[in-house]
Amino acid sequence: MMAQHETTEVLVVGAGASGIPAAIAAARAGARVILLDEDPYPGGAAVDMGVSAYCGLPRTGIVKEVEDALKALERSSGHTRWFMPSSWMTVYRELLARAGVRLVLNAKAVGAITRERGGTTRVTGVTVERGGGTVEIEASVVIDATGNGVVALAAGGQGMYGEDSRSDFGETPAPDQRTDRVQQVTWMYVSQRPPGVKTFDMARLENYRRGVLVEGLGWWHSDPDKAVALATSRYLHWGCAVSCADPRDPMALGEAGRDALEAMARDHALLRENGYTIQLAPKIGVRETWRVAGDHVISLGDLRSGIYPEDKIAEGWYGIDIWGGADKPELSKPLPAYGIPYRATLPRNLDGLFVVGRAMSGTHIAMSAYRVMPIVGAVGQSIGVAAALCVQLGTQPRQLDPGLVQKAVTRAPQDLRLEWTEKPA
Ligand SMILES: Cc1cc2nc3c(=O)[nH]c(=O)nc-3n(C[C@H](O)[C@H](O)[C@H](O)COP(=O)(O)OP(=O)(O)OC[C@H]3O[C@@H](n4cnc5c(N)ncnc54)[C@H](O)[C@@H]3O)c2cc1C
Repeated sequence: MMAQHETTEVLVVGAGASGIPAAIAAARAGARVILLDEDPYPGGAAVDMGVSAYCGLPRTGIVKEVEDALKALERSSGHTRWFMPSSWMTVYRELLARAGVRLVLNAKAVGAITRERGGTTRVTGVTVERGGGTVEIEASVVIDATGNGVVALAAGGQGMYGEDSRSDFGETPAPDQRTDRVQQVTWMYVSQRPPGVKTFDMARLENYRRGVLVEGLGWWHSDPDKAVALATSRYLHWGCAVSCADPRDPMALGEAGRDALEAMARDHALLRENGYTIQLAPKIGVRETWRVAGDHVISLGDLRSGIYPEDKIAEGWYGIDIWGGADKPELSKPLPAYGIPYRATLPRNLDGLFVVGRAMSGTHIAMSAYRVMPIVGAVGQSIGVAAALCVQLGTQPRQLDPGLVQKAVTRAPQDLRLEWTEKPA
């Protein structure tokens, strides 16, 4: 049972793709860790939005441990690329428990606790909603892994939303002026073919071209003939992508959800008529809301440069993937592997706080690439280690030497590879 006021060394807010590796890494590095989530289960997008497939590279550190454990749990072949949401939840729960992280669920952070000193705001904790009141949780270091920058923005951090203008960060494919356009939302679902039911031709689905991932196989079956020939029993569907006027607004999201259900109705009816069952993700999938401006803003130029920043704390490789964005040939050019700088996790003008996950500091275009789970997972792991180092050394995130983080993450028990030898040209 949580007291009205609690303290810990590292507080991670958001038990998703970035927050879970952050919490595990901080605990393995010796810190006392509390991990909060507003959901009744850990997992973030993999569980509550049905985003149950890693895409992008590399798979290293805790991300690799998670993937290996998922394969073992589902007794899958080496090629499997997606796993049932309940399997993600089970694997995450086990890894968190083994690391000694205290997981607090149904705990929505509604505010930041701050202290002012010498013109700087230091975040020292969060307030959490609790039947008719709030609970305060304070920590030496806080990690905002909410995907929306909830803690950073409550503390006065600088939010970035929508498309940046071309002149903001020198991105040539960006529009002349900033806009409020963000990526589309998608309602994911799983369909299953019970034993004895004939294989249905997925190419007959209206939203089929958006992607259907087949159990046991590591490729998108965009070839109708192959789709028909496959006699597997489980399919992950990128159900339907629709635009949302403002995914920060729950009611606007409700309207987008209604549009998505209507747009999927024919496909669902077809699947049911053919004997398949359908399991819709608990929530519609939101790709983008707030980003939090940091000491460095990752831009398309950074990702394209092929030059790693000196304070690199993770590597990534995944291309620009702006759902619903303008179809510009310049954006579909392949990217080389890139490095994520430590500075992008330090919210401007705030101490005591890191921001990880899809809300860390980057442009609308750049985040469409590095937002995928293996990359934000690796960043989360490094920042968990950084937070534990801050506690041990009694220092603030901005004062910590990123070289110490680089050394610590590459050694046991972290084993996060920062030099990725299989990187594409
Ligand atoms: C439809 C869709 C398809 C995608 N496809 C893929 C894919 O195939 N492969 C891939 O790797 N990535 C994919 N992604 C991207 C990826 O899922 C996300 O970018 C990634 O999960 C972001 O990680 P995160 O830690 O920032 O957020 P999340 O994983 O969403 O975790 C954030 C957590 O914070 C919690 N939280 C939020 N606010 C609060 C609060 N106030 N208090 C307490 N807890 C809070 C949430 O409940 C959640 O558990 C997809 C995303 C979407 C939406």
